[in-house]
Formats: sequence, C-alpha cells, structure tokens
Amino acid sequence: MDTTKKIAFLGLGHMGAPMARHLLAQGHVLTVWNRTPDKAEPLVAAGATVAATPAGAVRDADLVVTMLADPAALRAVSDGILSDPSALRPGVHWIDTSTVGPEAVGALAKRLPEGVTLTDAPVMGSVDRAATGTLWVLAGGDPLPGPVSELLTTLGEVTVCGPAGSGAALKLVLINAVVGGVGLVAEALRLGQALGLPEELVRAELARGPLAGAVARTYADASHFPVALAAKDVALATGHAPLPILEAVRASLTARPELADRDLSRIRV
Ligand code: NAP
Repeated sequence: MDTTKKIAFLGLGHMGAPMARHLLAQGHVLTVWNRTPDKAEPLVAAGATVAATPAGAVRDADLVVTMLADPAALRAVSDGILSDPSALRPGVHWIDTSTVGPEAVGALAKRLPEGVTLTDAPVMGSVDRAATGTLWVLAGGDPLPGPVSELLTTLGEVTVCGPAGSGAALKLVLINAVVGGVGLVAEALRLGQALGLPEELVRAELARGPLAGAVARTYADASHFPVALAAKDVALATGHAPLPILEAVRASLTARPELADRDLSRIRV
C-alpha cells in the first residue's frame, strides 16, 4: 500500500467520517474539508489536516475523494474547487464515492481540467462497513488508474463495473433493489401484524425464503442510511425507466417526515 500519496477528503458526514478515519488508520496522509467545520475536529484529532475551503483541501493532493449527500452537494463542492483554476494539478485523480447517479458524474467529468481523472466509485454498505474498510465499491472506469485502484481497495472490495459512469449507474440499480426490498418486507410485516401473527414468526419465515437479505437489512442495527437519502436514491432512478413500484415506495418514505433522518430499517415500525 502506497501511503506517500496525499489525499484530500471532502464530505465528513455519516459515511465520509468513518471512511476518512479508516484511511488515516491505514497510514494515509489526509487533508479534510466539510461544509460544517465542526465535523472535521475528530479527524484532526486523529491526524488529519483541515482545510478552510474545498479548493484549499485539494491544492496539494494527489487523490481527491468526495463523499457528499446528493448531486447538488457535489455541484456546490466542485464549484468551490473549480472556481480556483490552480487548485487541481494535472495528474490528480478525483474519486467520487457519493451516490449521485451517472448524469452528475458525467457533468462533473466534463468540467474537469485537462489531465485530471474522475472515477465514480459509489459504495454499498453503511457506516459499520465504512469504519472497517469493508465496503462494496462499485467503480466506473476500465482500467482504473493504479493509485485509484489502490485507494479503493483500502475502502473495501472493488467491483470494476465498466466505463466511466457505470459504477454510478449500478449503484442506483442495487440500492433501489434494497430500498424496494426493505419496503416490501416492511409491508409484509404490517400485513402479518394485521392478521394477528407474531412478528418473530413472520420475520423468521420470511427470512427462510428469497427475501432473506432484505429481511436482514430491515432489522439491521449497525447501519445509518437515512430514509431521506433512500428517497433521494429512488428519485435519482425514476427518471431512467418507468418504476411504479419504486415510485410507490418513495411516496411511502416521504410521507413519514419524522423518519427522514432515521435509518431505513425504521420503516418497518
Ligand atoms: P450525510 O451524513 O448526510 O453527509 C452528507 C455530506 O454531504 C456531509 O458532509 C454534508 O455536509 C455534505 N453536504 C450536503 N449538502 C452539501 C452542500 N450543499 N455543500 C457541501 N456539502 C454538502 O450522508 P451520508 O450518510 O454520509 O451519505 C453520503 C453519500 O453516501 C450519499 O450520497 C448517500 O446516499 C451515500 N451512501 C450512504 C450510506 C449510508 O449508509 N449512510 C451508504 C452508502 C452510500 P454537512 O456536514 O455540512 O451537512
């Protein structure tokens, strides 16, 4: 593992903070930035340098990693970086691990200066796997630049999905299947309750069938994937194909604003 490369890590939310902390623990040199500066403090205590602006964070970097909420966040941060033409050096590799869909990644790629590469590398797995470097990384770009491949391997197990944008695309497919599956399990549990069946019985028998993984995710207690982000991921998908079942799941997610910041598993209650 090459730890001589300087990494800029932007976006220290629920996922970004443990990912950055894991990279520090592996001996990497990190400069971090977050819109809400307080969230950088624990990373600084763990050895990172904090930057005041996105452009300042990337100025000396060999690799830039972004882990941001949605396309608007990625746009805002990239505007900040690109507003200073000297911030990104030729030869820098930018890896976006946010779930933003292929359009946002493609739009960013078009704006990058000559000599700067962009790899879409959204992740499956939540905060628990981010902390241990055991994410499931979906990378677009074949072949991946060597330093990109090496850094992504530190974050988890890498699937090279195909050309640029294919990681972002596959992420929408996979996460929408998960959100739909959890929505379906939540409704099956509700039906079982309405029919007077014990929850434990319904849960155990559902878990014996093809929905086993969705049942496990519906009861996950170490994940923090907020319902609002799940609804965002369905919204990113529905422009690409008619998805009436997922549209219905999204409506059910957004109908319960009290769950917006709670993990997706809470929709079973
Ligand atoms: P989060 O905790 O809400 O963090 C979002 C990050 O984006 C924060 O650093 C936030 O900054 C920043 N941000 C939001 N709007 C911004 C803006 N306009 N300008 C600059 N920064 C902005 O979300 P998360 O759970 O870490 O998820 C991050 C991404 O990973 C999302 O795309 C999500 O879908 C995906 N993901 C999440 C999980 C999960 O289990 N949570 C799993 C896999 C993938 P502030 O701190 O200032 O708000």
